[in-house]
Amino acid sequence: MNLLLPTSCIGCQEFQAATICQKCRKRLKESQLKRCAQCAIPIASNEKGLVCLDCLRKKPSYDTTLCLDSYGGFLTEAIHLYKYQHQIAIAHGLLDAWLEVHPRELRSNQAVDWILPIPMSQQKLHQRGFNQSWELCKLFSKKLKIKNNWKVLNRSHLDGDQVFASKQERVQRLNNVFSINPKNIGLIKNKNIALIDDVMTTGATLSVVAKLLKDFGAQSVHNWVILRTPNKSPC
Ligand SMILES: [Zn+2]
Ligand SMILES: [Zn+2]
Repeated sequence: MNLLLPTSCIGCQEFQAATICQKCRKRLKESQLKRCAQCAIPIASNEKGLVCLDCLRKKPSYDTTLCLDSYGGFLTEAIHLYKYQHQIAIAHGLLDAWLEVHPRELRSNQAVDWILPIPMSQQKLHQRGFNQSWELCKLFSKKLKIKNNWKVLNRSHLDGDQVFASKQERVQRLNNVFSINPKNIGLIKNKNIALIDDVMTTGATLSVVAKLLKDFGAQSVHNWVILRTPNKSPC
């Protein structure tokens, strides 16, 4: 007996059994853009290890970024449903597709020792009841058999709206928002770490967290995100 419940594909909405259908998986594999090895912004050439001008000018603290697709593409609606309606099944589909798109990178990448979620402040977590990054992190961890830990990074609550702050204020605020749990400092020394997030926008948050981890001795920091905005909007 087939116990799979029919559902609709998160990419094309066609009625079928998998969260993301074969056609959409194929489309994702074939439509991979050439991206900067460090920040995953689309660039003209994807010669191995090539980075964009922005990363050359101002090197981010993280080492590499892998994403599944661009924010604004055909998976945008799915990521919203996952994030705001907490539809965990969607995360399974996105993750399966992500792993299919990056088999080579995952094999050749330096082995990752820890997978960490981008934390949410306690206030926000209580408000939303769901950290989209943590749920993805658990799935990555399970599928790749790499340890995860949500107790390494802390995020304090910020009063006021980031949107209205100047670029300088925003960077300053971000630097003060994240911290490392003193009990877990020993876990990151000389380790290779993957940071998990659903959407990477400017990369400012990921860079601040990567810098923090490296200040405490992390050897390398890699961003594993689902969607990446195709342009760096001014942060
Ligand atoms: Zn589909
Ligand atoms: Zn770049």
